[in-house]
Amino acid sequence: MRVILLGSPGSGKGTQAKLLSQRLNLVHVGTGDILREAVRLGTPPGRQAEPYVNKGLLVPDALVNDLVADRFARVDRPERFVMDGYPRTLAQAASFDQVLRQQFLDLEAVVLLAVNDEKVVTRLSGRWVCPICKTPYHLVSNPPKVAGKCDRSCGPLIQRADDREETVRERLRVYHENTAGLIDHYRSHGLLKEVTGEGNIEDIYGKIVHVLNHQAGPSC
Ligand code: AMP
Repeated sequence: MRVILLGSPGSGKGTQAKLLSQRLNLVHVGTGDILREAVRLGTPPGRQAEPYVNKGLLVPDALVNDLVADRFARVDRPERFVMDGYPRTLAQAASFDQVLRQQFLDLEAVVLLAVNDEKVVTRLSGRWVCPICKTPYHLVSNPPKVAGKCDRSCGPLIQRADDREETVRERLRVYHENTAGLIDHYRSHGLLKEVTGEGNIEDIYGKIVHVLNHQAGPSC
């Protein structure tokens, strides 16, 4: 299974990508996580990306395309994967198409998680994450057993700097500006499937698996 999850910030892509990866044994490639880790470590791409990530702006295509191309050029390249947060622009989609062609890997589906913008703002302001194991929580819909602590005993949860309301609105604006072209691109390749990202996590997961199971094409 090779799938891209598309959706606005806060659409639940990260949560669903994590479930798909655990249950279908797919490699979870999350460019937000890769970039945040690079920022945390202070690597050269991390230092370049930092101002964009903190403001909720898209990191330049060339930088993120190189990170993804490097990941797929490694000996342990992902062969069965779920992409979370990449591609986000038409230029990234073109670069990723080329990477996959070079690796002789076919995409099987692109799932668009659709969520209303105001719901996203509410969702993100309650979002916390474990910095160690990356498990996401929500103060209302998916709270940790002990307030502020990861259920896996990793330690205290953190809120992302870019989950502040004005930053979330900027991220939504950027998302809408770039996604229309991306959606058309994958629709024209017959890969696009739309699933509502509103409702309970397991129901949404079930809908995603349903559309993936009804997707024509190779399935190795
Ligand atoms: P995410 O965790 O996917 O919401 O990403 C967090 C931040 O990382 C975004 O607001 C961007 O600054 C950056 N980012 C993640 N993925 C990409 C991408 N594909 N292209 C450009 N910037 C990205």
